[in-house]
Amino acid sequence: MKKILLLTSGGDAPGMNAAIRAIVRTGYYHDLEVFACHNGYQGLVDQDIFQIRRENVAGIIQHGGTLLKSSRCQAFYKKDVRDKCCRFLKKKGIEGLVIIGGDGSFRAAAILESEGGSKSIGIPATIDNDIVGTEYAIGFDTARNTALQAIDKIRDTAYSSNRYFVVEVMGRRAGFLAVDVAIAGGAEYILTPEFPISVGKLAKQINAPRRQKQSLIIVVAEADKPGRSMDIVKRLRKLTPFEYRVCVLGHIQRGGSPTVMDREIGSRMGHLAVEALLEGKTNAITAIQDSHLTLAPFPGHESPYRQLENQDLLKLGEVLAT
Ligand code: ADP
Repeated sequence: MKKILLLTSGGDAPGMNAAIRAIVRTGYYHDLEVFACHNGYQGLVDQDIFQIRRENVAGIIQHGGTLLKSSRCQAFYKKDVRDKCCRFLKKKGIEGLVIIGGDGSFRAAAILESEGGSKSIGIPATIDNDIVGTEYAIGFDTARNTALQAIDKIRDTAYSSNRYFVVEVMGRRAGFLAVDVAIAGGAEYILTPEFPISVGKLAKQINAPRRQKQSLIIVVAEADKPGRSMDIVKRLRKLTPFEYRVCVLGHIQRGGSPTVMDREIGSRMGHLAVEALLEGKTNAITAIQDSHLTLAPFPGHESPYRQLENQDLLKLGEVLAT
């Protein structure tokens, strides 16, 4: 293998830059030529690739987002478009792809390879941390620290003004972010996509005399409806005698300087991805399993995403909030 191409695809996550830097530096360490494109698969579709050099990745490790930009590319779902990409990769002599992104991006890489494209290794990056096969995806730790800082600040004002707050965090299919920040922020209630509680039941718990407080925080994962905390509050206002405020943290959770953990794991995963390609591996993601860095197969169709498996942390939150 002489030439590899890297891209960041799907939702961006802090720590992607650490992975980009590690891929580029490891590539040149092994005398590879490293190419990149902007805007995920769109850059490949546009045949707009460029050689990325060691010096291009200097001073990026501390920045959130992705130097290479990311996007969702509709055109890539079309076979004729992908066929063109395969021909382009062959013409350019690119034998290996490193894709930093989520399960959709890895599925795309697997399809491309099955149609004659390059070998590919994925690096999981999503603040939801819901990729099958790995306990950790780049961006999660930074996002949970960002959300936690926000909750700490809300706690100050909630306490001082005797208010009830509903804080909505990201987490479309999984409640990993919600439970971690709720436990660490001392929240009283946690709503996750996996173990939903009806608003009626939540209201009953809030109204129960032994759990009444002067101020409290309910952490809600956005699930399939960002902004759903507004509806929850509307109904809680009818079912309980308390006044609520809503805070939707939204995209601030995606940004910011990556934590030590995201920089370190991003660096290690970037390095492993290149080493894996050089060993002829393909159709795999860099993964953390039992706290060790390893490779895992691309997530299959049968179990497309990872979710909370039990309610242990939810129960812990309940006990600690009494
Ligand atoms: P993520 O990688 O974060 O899960 P998406 O599911 O949106 O995000 O996938 C990112 C991009 O990967 C899509 O916009 C598309 O370009 C490509 N992609 C995803 N799934 C497929 C597929 N089944 N076939 C072709 N391309 C795909």
